[in-house]
Amino acid sequence: MTDACVRVALPLPLATDYTYGVPEPLRDAVAVGMRAVVPVRERELIGIVTAVGVERPAMRLRDVLALPDTEPLLDACHLELARWLSSYYGTPLGLALRAALPAGMWGASQVRLVLADEARADGAVAQSIVAWLAERGGAGLVSSLKRHLGREVWAAVHRLAERGAISLTVEPPDTRAARVTQKLAVLGEHVPSLLEREALFRRSPRQREVLELLEALGGSVPLTVLREQHRVSDAVLRGLRQRGLVHVEEGERDRDPFAGRAGTPPPETPTPAQQAAIDAIGQLRAGQGALLYGVTGSGKTFVYLEAVRRVLAEGRGAIVLVPEIALTPQTVRRFRGVFGDDIAVLHSGLSDGERADAWRRIRRGERRVVVGARSAIFAPVPALGLLVLDEEHESSYKNGEAPRYHAREVAFVRARLEGAAVVLGSATPALETMERVGHDLALLRLEARIGARPMPPVELVDLRAHPLVQGMRPVPWSDALDAAVETVLDRGEQALLLLNRRGFAAFLQCSKCAAVCGCPSCSISLTVHRAPAGLRCHYCGHQEPVPAACPQCGGSVQAERGIGTQQLEQAVAARYPRARIARMDLDTTGERWAHERILETVERGEMDLLIGTQMIAKGLDFPNVTLVGVVDADTGLHLPDFRASERTFQLLAQVAGRAGRGPKGGRVIVQTRSPKHHALACAAGHDTDAFLATEREQRRVPAYPPFVAIANVLLSGPEEVAVADAGTRVADWCARLVAAKRLTLAVLGPAPCPLARLKERWRWHVVVKGPSREVGAFVRYASRRLPKLSGDVRVVVDRDPVSLL
Ligand code: ADP
Ligand code: ZN
Repeated sequence: MTDACVRVALPLPLATDYTYGVPEPLRDAVAVGMRAVVPVRERELIGIVTAVGVERPAMRLRDVLALPDTEPLLDACHLELARWLSSYYGTPLGLALRAALPAGMWGASQVRLVLADEARADGAVAQSIVAWLAERGGAGLVSSLKRHLGREVWAAVHRLAERGAISLTVEPPDTRAARVTQKLAVLGEHVPSLLEREALFRRSPRQREVLELLEALGGSVPLTVLREQHRVSDAVLRGLRQRGLVHVEEGERDRDPFAGRAGTPPPETPTPAQQAAIDAIGQLRAGQGALLYGVTGSGKTFVYLEAVRRVLAEGRGAIVLVPEIALTPQTVRRFRGVFGDDIAVLHSGLSDGERADAWRRIRRGERRVVVGARSAIFAPVPALGLLVLDEEHESSYKNGEAPRYHAREVAFVRARLEGAAVVLGSATPALETMERVGHDLALLRLEARIGARPMPPVELVDLRAHPLVQGMRPVPWSDALDAAVETVLDRGEQALLLLNRRGFAAFLQCSKCAAVCGCPSCSISLTVHRAPAGLRCHYCGHQEPVPAACPQCGGSVQAERGIGTQQLEQAVAARYPRARIARMDLDTTGERWAHERILETVERGEMDLLIGTQMIAKGLDFPNVTLVGVVDADTGLHLPDFRASERTFQLLAQVAGRAGRGPKGGRVIVQTRSPKHHALACAAGHDTDAFLATEREQRRVPAYPPFVAIANVLLSGPEEVAVADAGTRVADWCARLVAAKRLTLAVLGPAPCPLARLKERWRWHVVVKGPSREVGAFVRYASRRLPKLSGDVRVVVDRDPVSLL
């Protein structure tokens, strides 16, 4: 028998696929692209069949146990895409496939046996199986059966199935929608002012803390979350309820904010510039791409909508990627407004089962437009015609685990494989993207904002020279920003205040010995938080109470240094008592739809000032926002990373684009200590071209992308010396490999990473730079052949890293 074997890729870090035999009853059914349940050591796992009719090797083989699908889940293009991922990023095929299929399609499936009406069994094992099933009303899971019989049952199961005594079905993964109701604590109508709070809570500071926590969390929080995560006692809640400040109601958990919601209707007619872009996109040939380079507010979304509409009219489908669904509810609503129920929104609130269901609906062609974040790039849209990446420069398009793919790169490959077109959109394109213009990207520009609204003027305020409001200290608050906020409040308009550091203070420092409280697991200082109070690590989540005295010298005075959004909120609330204030950062949005709720209050005009981290810079369109204040533009400027300037410029341009989107116009005030830096100077002039040109020159020497490609070989382990040694070994190995293969790559390091320790692991890296093709060859070779490292040292090879921190 030569043709009875299959190759199966497993979602494990294995270098190759495994070969399995196929039992007679499954032989006709098996096909490439199907899932197969196979034995791996003591477990049963789901893998993907990558080849059939494979010659039987000369060793003893185990058999495929079951085939859950009646037809392949993955078509040839998808499989080809996974092969490309595997080869480009140096990742085993099984891991690439795991990224390309929803999680619910992997581990959770179970094989169920159903007894036929007239089942006869010969042999002891078969008889016990039939008896066991009969006892259970005729059906049961193989996993329970194995536990019951305490032995291998598959051979007997297959024999029974062959004779029609039982049938095998594969339980789909958990598809129960997560629509359970639960009790929520909800803020009352009356929002006490700061003065009222002082009076109300003099004797009950904990009640005030909890009230402010509820405000920070978006106004409605499950009781279980308050009790378990924030240790709120029932007595405190009772107090707040008795005062009418909080009430408890039943609410739906994980309500999908997009389901059943009316969409936003589109504008009637495109502007001439939009029309030109729509036409150019319509003319793209299969596999080609366009960069839609247009300032914020220039109407890029409408161009995407029209481009998708054309593709649908041709009977094809489209995928639209946004950096983060929760932060771009307005974009989702616009798509819903045009495509209604033809659209599938793949958002992070879906359970594994719901995601798998959505995936099947897309594959059956019941939803032809998919909107989602990074992983939606793999959505199985039949007859794919168009791939759109909005805000293509965003680093969230890069996957943080193997395969470390970038959705933009995947989009180009997928477009080539399936004959689709790619549209990238941005007001601040990545340098790598600009480098492609003229090769595989056509450049389409939208120079002006819709309605000829001017870009808001951006004023740089030099914090070293400008008079500051003393009462706001230590928050740097210039007279200029102060006056602008007062004007906004006088006029009943709205302002966004950006500070890209959450928490209360950046760190706690002893005034006597200058020791800084650091995370025990990471080489980073702990951030001071107020609601709830404590020190927290923003990398690993470690929490501890604020120490009463310096852990080093016992000194009693500890100063909070560097401000965070919590402190900004407090200072702003004290300075502008009449303002209604909301805050949006990772701490306030822990609950799934908190973003949505906070943004809705701003949209309905219930908030005057929205304070937040970079989260508030994303694609929001609030016409009543007439002021954007950047409290400290330098928070990311001096990070030891080659993208620090680019990220700072992008953030400033994005957040500045939130101002003046309505007829009232707007202005932007940026506080900085580096007004001459090109990221700031160019942002002030709205001059993205100048920024790109200057930044590009700075990437020549030392060479960084787009002039070279990079692979980052990252080593980590619990022991510092072992990691450093491994660094030296790996760097030597890389250098020898480069010499042996006559590559022109530069090998830099080993060196400790700027983030030298993370989650109890020391980190070193070796950076390999050079032409992309050579980096690719290096990555493929290194991911298979890197020397075995001792001392629990892990190695990760990251091609095209988004940062080197
Ligand atoms: P961008 O995505 O480039 O930042 P948007 O697509 O959000 O810009 O458009 C900015 C605003 O202009 C939105 O409120 C949008 O509804 C409006 N708009 C876009 N195109 C048109 C048009 N052709 N006519 C009228 N209004 C438009
Ligand atoms: Zn930590």
